[in-house]
Amino acid sequence: MNSEKLLVTDYGSVTDSFDRDHLWHPYTSTTRPLPVYKVVSAKGCRIRLADGTELIEGMSSWWCAVHGYNHPVLNKALKEQIDRMSHVMFGGLTHDPAIDLGKLLLKILPSQLTHIFYADSGSVAVEVAMKMAVQYQYAKGLASRTDFVTIRSGYHGDTWNAMSVCDPVTGMHSIFGAALPARHFVSQPCSRFGGTWNPEDIEPLKEIIEKHGDEIAALILEPVVQGAGGMWFYHPQYLVEAARLCRERGILVIFDEIATGFGRTGRLFAYEHAGVVPDIMCIGKALTGGYMTMSAVIATDNVADTISDNYPYAFMHGPTFMGNPLACAVAKASVQLLLDSGWQEKVMTIESLLKRELAPAADFPQVADVRVLGAIGVVEMKKPVDMAVIQKRFVEEGVWVRPFGRLVYVMPPFVISQEELSILTSALLNIVQNIDV
Ligand SMILES: *Cc1c(COP(=O)(O)O)cnc(C)c1O
Repeated sequence: MNSEKLLVTDYGSVTDSFDRDHLWHPYTSTTRPLPVYKVVSAKGCRIRLADGTELIEGMSSWWCAVHGYNHPVLNKALKEQIDRMSHVMFGGLTHDPAIDLGKLLLKILPSQLTHIFYADSGSVAVEVAMKMAVQYQYAKGLASRTDFVTIRSGYHGDTWNAMSVCDPVTGMHSIFGAALPARHFVSQPCSRFGGTWNPEDIEPLKEIIEKHGDEIAALILEPVVQGAGGMWFYHPQYLVEAARLCRERGILVIFDEIATGFGRTGRLFAYEHAGVVPDIMCIGKALTGGYMTMSAVIATDNVADTISDNYPYAFMHGPTFMGNPLACAVAKASVQLLLDSGWQEKVMTIESLLKRELAPAADFPQVADVRVLGAIGVVEMKKPVDMAVIQKRFVEEGVWVRPFGRLVYVMPPFVISQEELSILTSALLNIVQNIDV
């Protein structure tokens, strides 16, 4: 369409015609591409575009870059590892980067979670966790327990099984339809984080478990903060009740902490808000500080031993790049840096600033809701925003924010300065209040 072509040329030197003609970007069309900006470098909380424009980073590259870009400590960890070895297979071999990262992770994870499975990305971690749950039930002689239950508005990734437990509407189940395994969905809890707990919130899950408990291998959900499926923050009591119901019926509990892990919600992991330890946990995204793709699935002794003590006496998964030494080395450096960096104070400072500076948006006629938790600030609009228009506006204001649907949100690197964060929030307010009502 001509209008899109026009928009693209409008961006001049920061777009690239090869990219436009040949490279597929996330969730985009090849024939009607939205503009993409060419980045030449990034440092701290600044992204530098090809025309010299600097943008203040409001997205942490989708939850990952908690330390900002081009961090000397992380650069060093990778450079040192690359001169020893970039990769060896993990089948039959091991190495210090994997061992050292494992030791560090076990120190910060709940003591019940003891067995670590390294994987390539968040979606793969979710696939692995779901396979673990099915194999656990199979090992217990419950081969009919192959189904899953989850809450609506969730997001767990884009691969097949991960997609099957994403919100059916935003997860595009209408397109993939019959090709996807059908899962049990219950309403997400309406009780807000920080509000009062409404016991009715747990009823839908209770009903499904009463009816279908014997077919369900596990409950999977994002604890407290639902990310890309709706940016909703719910009451931790839901996790307490849900875990109790599941355990009464032999259903495993999987927490997907891929977005919430490593301090983003104000706790190191979001399960801590509820004090509920899952049987299986997925972590990813900020694990490597945004340097490499890597995730991990961590299971209890019970899950690991049950799978391992029964036919086929092994967990049946093994990615080629499992435990990649470069990824492990930078992950270890990133986690250690986080722990040493006073992250909690930084996140609390971001939280109070976001609360104060985003609050006025609640009175805008365009806005349905404003919510902040930890280093996440969400302005929920009444109507979906026009991505092409609003994205350009953010860049004009010198900030990088990428809204979706009705959600305009920020989750900046923890190292953002108060001045940078104020530029981000005032740009956001300025832009949303000038959208047509
Ligand atoms: C991003 C995300 C995933 C998928 O991770 P990828 O690395 O993109 O595959 C899964 N679960 C949650 C909660 C996420 O935010």
